[in-house]
Amino acid sequence: MKIIMLGAPGAGKGTQAKRIAEKYGVPHISTGDIFRANIKEGTELGKKAKSYMDQGLLVPDELTCDLVVDRISQPDAQKGYVLDGFPRTIPQAEALTAALEKRGEKIDYAIDVEVPDSNIIDRMSGRRACLSCGATYHLKYNPPKAEGQCDNCGASLVLRDDDKPETVRKRLDVYHSQTQPLIDYYKAAGALRGVDGTRDIDVVFQDIVGILGE
Ligand code: ADP
Ligand code: AMP
Repeated sequence: MKIIMLGAPGAGKGTQAKRIAEKYGVPHISTGDIFRANIKEGTELGKKAKSYMDQGLLVPDELTCDLVVDRISQPDAQKGYVLDGFPRTIPQAEALTAALEKRGEKIDYAIDVEVPDSNIIDRMSGRRACLSCGATYHLKYNPPKAEGQCDNCGASLVLRDDDKPETVRKRLDVYHSQTQPLIDYYKAAGALRGVDGTRDIDVVFQDIVGILGE
């Protein structure tokens, strides 16, 4: 089962992708998590990516596509995966399609988590992230059991630098101009499924299970 998650920043792609990964036993591959892990480790890729991420811009395709194509070639991804945050541009989608076509494969489902811009600033300003294990919480909608601490690994939770309102506005502009066209791309490929992402996390997940099957 090869799935990609579409939707604005803060729509709930990561939240749903983690649940999909757990239920269907496929790896959750988040390019944002990969870049943040590289930033934490101080790698060359991390240094390059950070300069774009801090401004709310996309990391260039040439730093992103090969990384994902390598990752989905790993043994644990052979039965499928859920891609979260990739592709984000038409050239990235084309690179993914070309890499899959070489192996006679295709994306089965592109799940578009639909949330209007008016909800996004609230979602992002309340998001708290664990930079150790990648878990995500929300102060109001999905709080951790102990304030400021990750339920999974106990590390401190942070407000991501790029979740501050001025950067979120930039990220929304970038989403509309560069990522939203992917909705038509995957519609044309017959893979697009939309879900209303404004409802409770559990209700959104039930819709997704309805699409993917029990
Ligand atoms: P994305 O991966 O699309 O950027 P996240 O999954 O990190 O988004 O979700 C953004 C924020 O909104 C997080 O703080 C998350 O806990 C919260 N969230 C996710 N889905 C919902 C929902 N259905 N209702 C309310 N809050 C949600
Ligand atoms: P995310 O965790 O998905 O919200 O991504 C955080 C940031 O990482 C984005 O705002 C981009 O700067 C960068 N990023 C993540 N995935 C991609 C991608 N596929 N292409 C370009 N930049 C990306």
